Amino acid sequence: MVVSGKPPYDESNIFARILRSEIPCNKIFEDDFALAFHDIRPQAPVHALVIPKGPYVSFADFGANAPAELIFGFSRAVAHVAKILGVEETGYRLIANMGWDSHQEVPHYHVHILGGRKLGVMLAPIEP
Ligand code: 5GP
Repeated sequence: MVVSGKPPYDESNIFARILRSEIPCNKIFEDDFALAFHDIRPQAPVHALVIPKGPYVSFADFGANAPAELIFGFSRAVAHVAKILGVEETGYRLIANMGWDSHQEVPHYHVHILGGRKLGVMLAPIEP
């Protein structure tokens, strides 16, 4: 289901449940600010998700409302996870979907890290 990316935050969303350890994940990294795990339906050889430890629906919510320390720590964590995954040399793409047009499905802010192959153009061309 596609979501709006706008608050209120739904405490029952799947990533909230992963954060509370109610649902397992294939964990890559965790610190005080972020949790990183492998995407359940990978779209590249490397496809990780990094989520902040806080109730933020999307980048819009996180960027506007998260404390500076969390924004800083989360950003550092994303870079660190890419390094752990070994894609810093070859390159990678970050995607943060927000709302309807982006096809955001999970209403907890997350950054996708994609890499491990040539990813091609940034967006698929629009069908005529
Ligand atoms: P979005 O479209 O919201 O940016 O991406 C959500 C991502 O979460 C998708 O790539 C999807 O495969 C992934 N995902 C959804 N449910 C789960 C889950 O339970 N575990 C994991 N590891 N990934 C999930």
